Amino acid sequence: MSFQYCCKNPNKYEYNIFHDGCFDNETNNLLLNCLWRLPETHSIQANCNTIFSIDTYSDYLMKLLMEKLSVTEDDVKIVTDSAGLSKNDVEFYEEEICLNCTKLVFSKSKKRITIQEFLRHLRNCIAHGRFNIVRGIFIGFDMVLDNNSNLSKYTAVIKVPFDNLSNLVTDICNIADIGDFYIMLLNDLGYLTKKENEDTILAEKDGVKYLIKIRHYSGRYINKSDVVNFINEIDHIENKGLYFVLIVDSTYETKETKLFLQEKHVAVLDKSSLKELLTGKDLFNEICSGI
Ligand SMILES: [Zn+2]
Repeated sequence: MSFQYCCKNPNKYEYNIFHDGCFDNETNNLLLNCLWRLPETHSIQANCNTIFSIDTYSDYLMKLLMEKLSVTEDDVKIVTDSAGLSKNDVEFYEEEICLNCTKLVFSKSKKRITIQEFLRHLRNCIAHGRFNIVRGIFIGFDMVLDNNSNLSKYTAVIKVPFDNLSNLVTDICNIADIGDFYIMLLNDLGYLTKKENEDTILAEKDGVKYLIKIRHYSGRYINKSDVVNFINEIDHIENKGLYFVLIVDSTYETKETKLFLQEKHVAVLDKSSLKELLTGKDLFNEICSGI
């Protein structure tokens, strides 16, 4: 199977993109959350959540998005052509829609990760009023205008049951920081967790305890100076039978940094191992066996 515009349901429902704006409270709350609280939308009310801008997390977050929206890969069309969506991509959903299937068609530029693009398109549909809610289905369009306010290109069509969208947005808005994200991830892997602060988590499984710290370092590989600073930072922490784990989400470890951290009894989960962890492979026991 590949992307199809519709499930071929012969029953289409005619609608008008111009709505009267009289939505119920639940709908209004969702719309306000999309406008103000979604990350990556330049709103100062939004959580500045780095996970939505780091490519390491992209596949995991897209999987989460698809689960929440109950869509399969065949319901999603990602357009990488800089010209945006085709005429057909848009016209198919204008004026009438099937109420049965969920479809996400959106453009993605090279400079943003997929989830980041989706959140921006969703916010734009609402901010520019190009949406309606038709018998429980949210239908929204995002577009780019030229300097004279004429249509330059369409960049998204989002057609999704309102309840599914509401659940997704609520979940995303509840991830206040990267610590919340890791709590969710570790709980899914069967760990008992306690958030010490935004980038420090205590986790326990099968009687083994871990102190996990999350860091973003710049560059392709972890610099020795970064891990030296890290060791100085944690030097005062008493090791009460805990394994220390450093997660670096955007850089790769080197032999030198791995050995240095091993000598200090700190296990490292670099960008490459983290990608495995994000597919559900529990690596904590394995990486701590060598320290
Ligand atoms: Zn359909």
